[in-house]
Amino acid sequence: MFGNITRANKKSSEWRLAERQLQIKSKDSNSWFIDMKKICIKYDLENPLSLLYNELSKGKWKKMTITAVHKYWTTRINEEIMYYSSMKYIPKSSFKVGKIQPLALSNSANQRDINRIPIRIKIATGTYILQTNRAVYNQNIVDPTCKLCDQAEETLSHFLLCCKALDQIRTPILKNIICKCSELPALQYTNIQLDILQLIINPFHYACSDESEIDISCKIEPLCRQLIHNLHNKRYEMLAKMDLISSRRKMNFKVN
Ligand SMILES: [Zn+2]
Repeated sequence: MFGNITRANKKSSEWRLAERQLQIKSKDSNSWFIDMKKICIKYDLENPLSLLYNELSKGKWKKMTITAVHKYWTTRINEEIMYYSSMKYIPKSSFKVGKIQPLALSNSANQRDINRIPIRIKIATGTYILQTNRAVYNQNIVDPTCKLCDQAEETLSHFLLCCKALDQIRTPILKNIICKCSELPALQYTNIQLDILQLIINPFHYACSDESEIDISCKIEPLCRQLIHNLHNKRYEMLAKMDLISSRRKMNFKVN
């Protein structure tokens, strides 16, 4: 929008308003043009007033802004990713400017597959809340033990691979994933030892070429999504039932 204003006639009210506001408004002002100024500082673009006086063609403007935004985010992601331990399953090298992360893509227009993406992303980026996260981040004392089986701490590997309460959901899909992996040339002839937890959380870790990325996205990732989605649904169903039982108990206790 600011690009359009810079290209407008210098006698037009928009252009004159932009010039005036950029000249007189302080940085604490709520003016839209001051917000624009802050965006220019953030992305290391020229001062908006000089952009206003030295108008660029639409093409040059677009190229300049897109380059600046891409440069900012590439630098920020590369510099900060090491401080986010939850991102350990997504390698820095998998961020490519202008390319969608394959974990967030659906290779079919299948609505069911698309609906599974948000939970799958939470699992891959370590933002899915399990009992162990609650125990670490909650101010009150929270027991990190898995509420479903009551046998171990509810970590990501416990939830995805070990929890006995979810075995029925997990076993058939996991078998299918392992079977599909043995059929994929990219995974079959590699010397890398497959880590099943890594495979479920981010199978693209094992993509060594564009071809193998396509193979993984067609054959492995939909199954990983299905597994995560079904485990998540079952977990929530069980937790909701437990909450219901405990609230009924509390009610009975009050009545008695
Ligand atoms: Zn468990």
